[in-house]
Amino acid sequence: MPFLKQGSNESRHLMQTLHLKDRDEDLKLAADLLKNGELVAIPTETVYGLAADAKNGVAVKNIFKAKGRPADNPLIVHIAHRDQLNELVADVPPMAQTLVRAFWPGPLTMIFKKASCIPDEVSAGLDTVAVRMPSHPIARRIIELSCPLAAPSANRSGIPSPTEAARVAEDMDGRIAAVVDGGACEVGVESTVVDVTGDCVRVLRPGAVTVEMLTQVVGNVEVDEAVTHELQAGATVSSPGMKYKHYAPNARVVLVKGSPDAYTAYVNEHTAEGVMALCFDGEGNDLRVPFLTYGTREDHTAQAQRLFEALRVLDEQHATIAYTACPSPDGIGLAVYNRLLRAAGFEVIELD
Ligand code: AMP
Ligand code: MG
Repeated sequence: MPFLKQGSNESRHLMQTLHLKDRDEDLKLAADLLKNGELVAIPTETVYGLAADAKNGVAVKNIFKAKGRPADNPLIVHIAHRDQLNELVADVPPMAQTLVRAFWPGPLTMIFKKASCIPDEVSAGLDTVAVRMPSHPIARRIIELSCPLAAPSANRSGIPSPTEAARVAEDMDGRIAAVVDGGACEVGVESTVVDVTGDCVRVLRPGAVTVEMLTQVVGNVEVDEAVTHELQAGATVSSPGMKYKHYAPNARVVLVKGSPDAYTAYVNEHTAEGVMALCFDGEGNDLRVPFLTYGTREDHTAQAQRLFEALRVLDEQHATIAYTACPSPDGIGLAVYNRLLRAAGFEVIELD
């Protein structure tokens, strides 16, 4: 077994990462590794997660090392059963109970006041903890066989989240004990994060449980300004993850808002070596630069599934600039728009 050598970063690279599959003996091995304080990347319905025993502060610290994640960005704890929530949080407000019934298991993370068993490494020193119950059968099985798992996305910090096991291996081989291959992720963007500690549900990060869906269930829903706007230096952040440049390929991403014709004309006026376009299916034919697509203009579900993989392919094709057609911010489109804004460092061209 590839037990982690503590100490220098170099010794971490000596580890041989196991590539596990969806079969009983592999999932048991993944669970045993996790119970031993090792790191294992697991598939979820959103993106691949880099998991550790949520109550083991040393193991959780190693997640930050393996990813190169800033220590002030807290992690989400993943559970398999409703009972596990009570152990991890100080209080489950009535509004949260309603959301649990409506959306768990599924891609919704809620922020609660934390219980004392949550190490500071998980909550990054905050008095709250983020909890989610994933629906992916492999994630659920591994949690059932082990324990609640702290897990951020399984990418090196700052770059697009992995939606396939091979992408996890590219980022994490030699740094973690194992990767479990569960195929491509169904949703493709990270979970919706909501704060339920206040008077109303407050969306800190949009995802596949949309603002529209939340509003139908609880009525009053607020969307944090940082979802669609750049934070001013020194501003107080409700969700520390929102202050970092994120999801970004090496290419400079420029988000272009406008009709298909206006987009095409803009890109064709800006051709140069290394320029690529990331556009919607069926809209690339008149472009005079190489292009990739990420779903049709109307199909936000496909955009979410394909976005992160497309951003990684841009790098493989050595793009230096990627003019990216902007999705409309409704439904799960808000999540796609939010990730692209961060990938672009808020560089947006408005054409119409
Ligand atoms: P990741 O796991 O990489 O998808 O990131 C988790 C996201 O949840 C980040 O944006 C965090 O800032 C956010 N998050 C986790 N825990 C908390 C918390 N206690 N309060 C606010 N946001 C949180
Ligand atoms: Mg992440």
